[in-house]
Amino acid sequence: MTDFIPFALPDIGDAEIEAVVSTLRSGWLTTGPNAAALEREFVEAMHPSAHVGAAQVQAVAVNSATAGLHLALEALGVGPGDEVLVPTWTFTATAEVVRYLGATPVLVDVHPDTLNIDLARAAEAVTPRTKAIMPVHFAGLPVPRGALADFAAAHGLRVIEDAAHSHPVDSEGMPVGLGTSDAVVFSFYATKTMTSGEGGMVVSADPQLIARMRTMRLHGISRDVFNRYTSTAPSWHYEVVAPGFKYNLTDVAASMARVQLTRSVAMRERRSAIADHYDSALAGLPLRLPSRPAPGTQHAWHLYALRLTDDAPMGRDDFIQRMSDAGVGCSVHFIPLHHHPYWRDLRGADAPALPVADAQFARAVSIPIFSSMTDAQVERVGQTVRAVLEGRS
Ligand SMILES: *Cc1c(COP(=O)(O)O)cnc(C)c1O
Repeated sequence: MTDFIPFALPDIGDAEIEAVVSTLRSGWLTTGPNAAALEREFVEAMHPSAHVGAAQVQAVAVNSATAGLHLALEALGVGPGDEVLVPTWTFTATAEVVRYLGATPVLVDVHPDTLNIDLARAAEAVTPRTKAIMPVHFAGLPVPRGALADFAAAHGLRVIEDAAHSHPVDSEGMPVGLGTSDAVVFSFYATKTMTSGEGGMVVSADPQLIARMRTMRLHGISRDVFNRYTSTAPSWHYEVVAPGFKYNLTDVAASMARVQLTRSVAMRERRSAIADHYDSALAGLPLRLPSRPAPGTQHAWHLYALRLTDDAPMGRDDFIQRMSDAGVGCSVHFIPLHHHPYWRDLRGADAPALPVADAQFARAVSIPIFSSMTDAQVERVGQTVRAVLEGRS
């Protein structure tokens, strides 16, 4: 058999390796000059000066998107008794952070075209206890943020965007990360669109939110460790103002992320070319191909998520097995949260049905899309999907 094509691989070049080695040699491994530079460069890459009202935007580097989502909710004061709207079509991290704070995630069904949170269904789930909404830009296709902002204003809700799939993209002419949401959270996990192995970034234009997240990121200490050792105040002195967390990003990881950031547009363009190839290679098969963005909006193509249609000659599980037998790794995004025992039990037996997610889950399959794929690999994936669905593999 030819070599197995994995579902995902990071795209790490010599520049990332050299950056990490040089950090290791520098003597400063934990949060320091590289993390601070990454925060500045991450904001600069969104060109905030080109967008009205975006001048205030700041970034807080963290050791995962999960940490960032938790910090943002904490800084917004979400706590026991509060409800937060979360799509059921996501990774458990989006909802678990709500539980960390003793609040309740209310799972909302998704739109069948995009698999993004359906704001009409979200409106039905609002109660007097609803405090915030956490949309996920599934696969890298942004939720229309104009409609999202209108929804939040109409119901008096805070907005935290889970942008773990969606760096770097424009949505309605403005980068995801800028806009009116309270906070936007990106992931640098190993398989995401840019990586530092583990890591993440929270972006916000609210200076109070930024200050609280900076403090809570590192033990609730009012000045971070780098400033402690470089400012003119006595280096041994610090003040604890809250029981904070250990969520800071190391300089080892940040130095890798700084290189990935400079490559992030080129890597997105490569994934976009792969998606274009799949769209034409898979035309006419019993498949629903991913939705395309509206003009002014981009797709980050973190995932290329297909749905088998009713006339497919086999079920999803069988399809994935045959793809694997033919040397192509596939995956499923996502097992809806309400199918997992913990979330099912938390919702209880009387919770509203989530029929779109149920129906789409049975058909969902993601095929490989990562920027280091070769043209030959991309072609082989397309040919293998066709061969499996035409009963030739
Ligand atoms: C990967 C992912 C996260 C968590 O990211 P980490 O950086 O691993 O914490 C959160 N939400 C979604 C939708 C994800 O896919």
